[in-house]
Amino acid sequence: MKAIRVHEFGPPEVLKLEEVPDLQPGAGQVVVRMHAVGVNPVETYIRSGIYPKPPTPYTPGADGAGVIEAVGEGVTRVRIGDRVYTAGTLTGAYAEQALCREAQVRRLPERASFAQGAAMFVPYGTAYRSLFQRAHIQPGETLFVHGASGGVGLACVQLARAIGMTIIGTASTEQGRRLVIEQGAHHVLDHRAPGYLEQVLQLTNGRGADVIVEMLANINLGNDLNVLAQGGRVVVVGNRGENNQGTVAINPRAAMQRDAAILGMTLANVTPPEMEKIHAALIAGLENGSLQPVIGQQFALADAAKAHHAVIESTAYGKIVLVP
Ligand code: NAP
Repeated sequence: MKAIRVHEFGPPEVLKLEEVPDLQPGAGQVVVRMHAVGVNPVETYIRSGIYPKPPTPYTPGADGAGVIEAVGEGVTRVRIGDRVYTAGTLTGAYAEQALCREAQVRRLPERASFAQGAAMFVPYGTAYRSLFQRAHIQPGETLFVHGASGGVGLACVQLARAIGMTIIGTASTEQGRRLVIEQGAHHVLDHRAPGYLEQVLQLTNGRGADVIVEMLANINLGNDLNVLAQGGRVVVVGNRGENNQGTVAINPRAAMQRDAAILGMTLANVTPPEMEKIHAALIAGLENGSLQPVIGQQFALADAAKAHHAVIESTAYGKIVLVP
């Protein structure tokens, strides 16, 4: 089978398509024939060498969707031929086949495409974790999705809309803003426009947002605190650049005055029982149609390098997917 392999850390061009041996499942494992692979920003950070480095050579990726091709001894939850999405893999998702533990594959409802399945785990898992397990969102509250046009942002919009929140999103392009509204936001702002955060206060009659999901905390976190309601919560999801790039200044008093909470989150910290809840909720959302991942761009597996350029350099319109 073919797989993307990384032999050295560096620019997107280190992603090479190679022929590797077919995979065989061990006990408690399954092999998935991948029909779509999700590309997430974190895979670009790992590839470039700025994150903890996996041993090389390695195949990137956690998200994908396809069909169970082989099952190992003791596997009971899935059978050959089942449609599944992956929530992590043992061998990497950027490939024609992926080896997974049984618990890493989840049923993909018929009404979701494979590309949509590949958009589930990291983006929707992160959105669900942020909203429900960290910020404890409530119907009737106002949510500000600061960076709503990408994979995680649109997932937040759909999840929050389904429970009856009022949603304000942001995107930097006209096309992105249209998409954010189409997917369920009540209002949309341009995060490149001067003074746009004042509109969060105007739209909430001066109260501010109850919950903010922040995609670029190293730039925005200090300003977020000024548009947060009393008792508000900010969830830090995205943070790019270390000390030399846009290190944010926070006025602690802004948090004090509001009894505000700044909540970090990373999907890696989710416990197995919490993960079961996340998947149960996401699969229900796919089944009832409230969750419909938006695929912005598709690339052939061989063009993984182009997809890595796109996820960092282009403006977002939903999810970027590779097709093996
Ligand atoms: P994505 O699809 O590339 O989307 C990036 C989003 O950020 C777009 O909506 C983009 O809007 C927006 N953005 C750009 N500049 C912004 C600014 N100045 N202020 C606010 N938003 C801005 O990426 P993603 O998959 O949604 O992930 C979003 C971030 O969360 C990434 O940094 C990713 O690494 C991180 N993340 C963290 C976790 C975790 O476990 N903590 C999990 C998943 C993702 P425009 O393109 O319209 O400008």
